[in-house]
Amino acid sequence: MSQNSLRVVWVYPDLLSTYGDQGNVLVLERRAHQRRLDVQRLDVRSDQQIPTSGDIYLIGGGEDRPQRLAAERLRRDGGLNRAVANGAIVFSVCAGYQILGHEFINDLGQREQGLGLLDVISTRGEGERCVGDVLADIDPQLGLPPLTGFENHQGVTHLGPTARPFARVRFGKGNGTGDGTEGAFNETVFGTYMHGPVMARNPHIADLLIKLALDVNALPPVDDRWYEALRDERIAAASQPA
Ligand code: GLN
Repeated sequence: MSQNSLRVVWVYPDLLSTYGDQGNVLVLERRAHQRRLDVQRLDVRSDQQIPTSGDIYLIGGGEDRPQRLAAERLRRDGGLNRAVANGAIVFSVCAGYQILGHEFINDLGQREQGLGLLDVISTRGEGERCVGDVLADIDPQLGLPPLTGFENHQGVTHLGPTARPFARVRFGKGNGTGDGTEGAFNETVFGTYMHGPVMARNPHIADLLIKLALDVNALPPVDDRWYEALRDERIAAASQPA
């Protein structure tokens, strides 16, 4: 491996961490430790500067007002954009995903500028909120097993030409556009609507981020029996909507 430590930055836990999204940091740390990697975890609150030296940045979901505040601060800070320009990996959930796009509709009903790190824009869905369990097939290019998660959002996300859909839903709404897509990604930046926390339900996503950050093709295997039991349960639940 080219390095044996990872700097993981958890962006704005005070504003963006609904539905236990903080669990993503815990799973990522655990999976790295299991591979004997040192992890430097940095929780960066919204009144602090975003460091540009991180390897992996995680951003969670949030309610509409904290989402606007987070977008304002991240734009002003500029650190996340600089980190991505330096090659950092970013994984975002729900409100965090919308913020990484070009724009979204804020709590005041106005268009709010995002960070432009993903070629997506989010509008406000006219219909019912997208709420419930989701089962989706992740882009085969990423080589991951099916995605399970929980969604709860009003926003609808449209992908531009340089964003690939992260997954295609079997059950659930995902991006909410009716085209069956869920989430988006490019070379280093990922977005999904999935809570769960999504990495507890899909630990292979954590492994993917670690591999990308370390620029390696494989990681030593770990015992995934507990994860698999949880996955089987959630996949069965998503396959039989109430
Ligand atoms: N406020 C956003 C929406 O409703 C995101 C919600 C969330 O992060 N759970 O679309």
